[in-house]
Amino acid sequence: MDLFEYQARDLFAKHGVPVLAGEVIDTPEAAREIAERLGGKSVVKAQVKVGGRGKAGGVKLAATPDEAVARATDILGMDIKGHTVHKVMIAELSPEIEAEYYVSYLLDRTNRTFLAMASVQGGVEIEVVAEENPDALAKVPVDANTGVDIVKAREIVALAKFPAEVAEGVAEAMVTLWDTFIAEDALLVEVNPLVKTKDGRILALDGKVSLDENADFRQPSHEALEDKDAANPLEAAAKAKGLNYVKLEGEVGIIGNGAGLVMSTLDVVAYAGENHGGVKPANFLDIGGGASAEVMANGLEIILGDPDVKSVFVNVFGGITACDEVANGIVQALELLVSKGEKVEKPLVVRLDGNNAELGRKILSDANHPLVQRVDTMDGAADKAAELAAAAK
Ligand code: GDP
Ligand code: MN
Repeated sequence: MDLFEYQARDLFAKHGVPVLAGEVIDTPEAAREIAERLGGKSVVKAQVKVGGRGKAGGVKLAATPDEAVARATDILGMDIKGHTVHKVMIAELSPEIEAEYYVSYLLDRTNRTFLAMASVQGGVEIEVVAEENPDALAKVPVDANTGVDIVKAREIVALAKFPAEVAEGVAEAMVTLWDTFIAEDALLVEVNPLVKTKDGRILALDGKVSLDENADFRQPSHEALEDKDAANPLEAAAKAKGLNYVKLEGEVGIIGNGAGLVMSTLDVVAYAGENHGGVKPANFLDIGGGASAEVMANGLEIILGDPDVKSVFVNVFGGITACDEVANGIVQALELLVSKGEKVEKPLVVRLDGNNAELGRKILSDANHPLVQRVDTMDGAADKAAELAAAAK
């Protein structure tokens, strides 16, 4: 999960990374009081999850509280690389800047390690530095077991050739940035620019943080950082139910067990759809190994609640959870939804194969549900689901 700058700033502050004060608002008039509190002068910064805000006009200095209101008016509602600005941060103005640097830590998957990156050429996009002047960007592997203490930080700072007068200050900041990275279970923490001010301070003026959602179970405070407004409502509902769901553009709802099977189901449905007016899969939904009636009902509820869905393809390969359990799950799920007052009127095509397939198929046939059709091959079932979706369009 990527964070907004103001959220990154809050995490930095929590772990001792030197930052300036700031508050986030969504109406221009609110800028006045904050700017006054910050001493009159301020910086108005667009909060969007994309870089290059400065160049796009999303970072403006304001000399007075009135100007802060005016700049907030300009910036709120702006479009920056396809992201609409809904919030701005009113930040304390930095003391005069003498130099802009770059520092970050990230998970280096390829080399199975953490990586520190640092450059004295900050402020600009780091991809440009890496491309045009690769020697100016130090890349230093960091051992997960030893991490970054002041000694390691000094090594990184020396490799990046920071000037002597800032080396110790930058190294200290890099230790606190590492603390943030580890304590928050981040995949990336980046400061660009880290600045040296005329009065000799080292300050993180911009922050980018990406958190590892796999660690959510031990990071209860991270839930509050989610941008609920931006999430697709169906995806949000699915997440709340613990389902692995991604909304797509098409008309055929998909439920399967196992990510690989669901991925190939998407392909097969898209292919079959070409013969039926170009209908496409409406979603990815993997209900995982243990497809209980409840999980099946949760999945069906999400998919049937999608107005784009015209038919549903349930594609299950029985494994540890055998097909008879899945078949019972489907039958019970439909009853459960009806009893909850959900509208259940879209046709379902079910393909069962694998462990106890015969028994599962018999259960479905015996249930004789008016909306459920059994097709026992994956291609055949995909074709039927596409046909039904096309007919209902
Ligand atoms: P980005 O363009 O999205 O990376 O946004 P940044 O937060 O990095 O801001 C862009 C640039 O604005 C920085 O590189 C700084 O040069 C400048 N900037 C940001 N905050 C301040 C500040 O408080 N004072 C001054 N003078 N410049 C600032
Ligand atoms: Mn920046």
